[in-house]
Amino acid sequence: MVFIAVYKNKCIGCSSCVSACQNEVLSIEDGLCKALRTENCKYCMACVASCNYDAIKVFV
Ligand code: SF4
Ligand code: SF4
Repeated sequence: MVFIAVYKNKCIGCSSCVSACQNEVLSIEDGLCKALRTENCKYCMACVASCNYDAIKVFV
């Protein structure tokens, strides 16, 4: 099972990761990234690569 961590102290809610994810795993809620559909994650790491703030990590 995948674990997607969003570091609230780093995330600015820019939504780069949401756009980068082809599997609609991520959304912006209350100004921060949230992993809402982790079951759709394909571990591609596009979200991690897209984040300029080092705010999201994917653990498999
Ligand atoms: S790309 Fe990074 S800073 Fe931007 S919403 Fe996603 S986790 Fe937050
Ligand atoms: S690892 Fe890939 S599929 Fe999983 S949330 Fe990030 S961009 Fe989406």
